[in-house]
Amino acid sequence: MATYSHSRISLFEQCKYQYKLKYIDKVKVDIKTTIEAFCGDIVHQTLEKLYKDLNYHKLNTCEELLNFYSSLWDEKYTDDIRIVKKEYSAQNYKDRGAKFVCDYYKHYKPFEETRVLGLETQDMLDLSNSSKYHVRIDRLCSDNKGNYYVCDYKTNSRLKTQEEADGDRQLAMYALWVKDRFKDAKSVKLIWYMLAFDREVLSERTEKELDELKKDVERKIETIENCRNFPTSESNLCTWCVYSHLCPLFSHKADLEDKKGLKKYMAQDGLVLTDSLADMLTQKKEIERKIDEVKENLIEFAKQSNADVIYGTDKKAAVKEYEKVVYPSDKEKFIDTLKQKGLYEEFSGINYLKLGSRILKKEIDKDIIEMTKLEKNYRISISKNKN
Ligand code: SF4
Repeated sequence: MATYSHSRISLFEQCKYQYKLKYIDKVKVDIKTTIEAFCGDIVHQTLEKLYKDLNYHKLNTCEELLNFYSSLWDEKYTDDIRIVKKEYSAQNYKDRGAKFVCDYYKHYKPFEETRVLGLETQDMLDLSNSSKYHVRIDRLCSDNKGNYYVCDYKTNSRLKTQEEADGDRQLAMYALWVKDRFKDAKSVKLIWYMLAFDREVLSERTEKELDELKKDVERKIETIENCRNFPTSESNLCTWCVYSHLCPLFSHKADLEDKKGLKKYMAQDGLVLTDSLADMLTQKKEIERKIDEVKENLIEFAKQSNADVIYGTDKKAAVKEYEKVVYPSDKEKFIDTLKQKGLYEEFSGINYLKLGSRILKKEIDKDIIEMTKLEKNYRISISKNKN
């Protein structure tokens, strides 16, 4: 049975295609870390050093800690680290991380409120379906009243809300592990140190909530294990996806970029076809607009000439007036009236779009599903190429 982690389950929820590449096909990619991840890692290692040294009764000064941070950054930094937000330099990120460390130090010095039980802990939580859940806690502490603290450092630019903290799966699963390992635990408090804001967000779960969460995670793992279809799902995360060159949504783009310079490859089939389709669709829109305009002029011409047929060189246009039914804007009331008069069944049609979607999701009676069959088809939509 596989080992699961918060990030593994989250990836399945975010993009099943990427999940398959990473965890099932185990595709190896040359992962270039992002500057955000790099900075977060250096800050974590610096705070780990702070507490490691405290364990030996060595309290670093803020300056010593910042020197450690700076040297570690310089030692580990490489030029291939990805900076997606081009308006900021590596130095901007380095300074930002240094401020996190400095603010944290000033806020919590002399760091004696609780006793540290573990730093960057690595362990497994057993789940009932014999799978395991990976537990990695930045810092685990306790006080002398039986309170345990699961501490997580966050370097995000967005402050976690209380609702998000109360609904967070990662640390709550760690709380289950703490309760399992430390039988004297009277409470387990989950704390996110939002370093960019010098603030804490705290959450605590009841036994019942933890029990439900565990069952929910076990159900999710079962869904993952039974999953046979792994579609792509495009989102903002695609910008950071290290598998985008293997993803059907972006592989052609990566292919073009790989060959350095679009110009040379203008004749390449995919690019030409996409450009042609986009061009034709634009022209179609313009022609449709012109057709409407000419039709309106023709109607006006027919009215003024009091003629029903207007002759062109080879063709003629018949302009015929007819009565068109305009339905009330209050559709609900109109439908209700049709129902009351027993006419609804006769005039309502099947919404095949909605029905099709329910059949695909298997959210409808199986007799209906069995009467239909699936075949492959394609839909093309043209949109702006943002990246
Ligand atoms: S690029 Fe986007 S859709 Fe494609 S695998 Fe990555 S996250 Fe999924």
